[in-house]
Amino acid sequence: MEHTIISLGAGTQSTDLLLRGLRGEFGEVPSHAIFADTGNEPKGVYNYLEWLRKFVDKEYHFTIDVVSAGNMYQDALAYLEGTRKRYAGIPYYTLNPKTGKKGILRRQCTGEYKIRPVRRHIRKLLPKVKKISLWLGISYDEMQRMKQANVQWITHRFPLIEKRIKRIDCIDNFKEYGLPVPIRSSCVVCPYHSDKYWLWIYENEKESFEAAVQLDEKIRNYLGIRDMCFIHSSCRSLKEIIIDIKKGKELASKQLNMFPELIEECSGNCGI
Ligand code: SF4
Repeated sequence: MEHTIISLGAGTQSTDLLLRGLRGEFGEVPSHAIFADTGNEPKGVYNYLEWLRKFVDKEYHFTIDVVSAGNMYQDALAYLEGTRKRYAGIPYYTLNPKTGKKGILRRQCTGEYKIRPVRRHIRKLLPKVKKISLWLGISYDEMQRMKQANVQWITHRFPLIEKRIKRIDCIDNFKEYGLPVPIRSSCVVCPYHSDKYWLWIYENEKESFEAAVQLDEKIRNYLGIRDMCFIHSSCRSLKEIIIDIKKGKELASKQLNMFPELIEECSGNCGI
């Protein structure tokens, strides 16, 4: 028998997927939903998750499991301070100060903090089950993010795409049911953020923004990397770039266009 599990990011699409799934809109009803907590989501995501857990418990007698492989932000700081030996890397942008050449580090954080804890938990929950259908909340308008699992016992399924449901449809669905619309889920320090997102964090979650600035200042001389590292794609400090973003200069997006080869998509497990 194949079990159906939702990988929940607690953002707009995966939450809509969960609620539609529990209403039976996709035929099968998921047996579990698992949220992998990196410890670095915006406060708004944690508040929403708290509400959602109570809501699905009350309405559907359904439990959302929260799993974690540690606090990604604290681990990043500990590695920089030398108190932690191994660290699954965040894809920081790099700049060679002599040549001006830019690059990006390999992304290991998704696997370490999101994919692996979910898989470990599934194994714990269903040790004898040989096939799992893992639903991911990727909407029709973001279908380029679809990716199959790299293990045979998991098959990724994308019910929102199958039903051609776009992000805007997810938002409308919350409104139709009179439910609060979730904010975007993603690590605060994720280098893939757009300027729009940085401005949102700056204006809505000052503490989270300050924490990102602190990490950004510490990664210029990153252990084992000769180039300077940055969280923002422009390879300028977050503290500095936010001033330009606030002024609406959109400097960063212009610079990004000059280096399209550096832009990478968050995998399907992040930001949904
Ligand atoms: S949201 Fe960004 S920083 Fe967080 S796990 Fe995904 S890629 Fe890494």
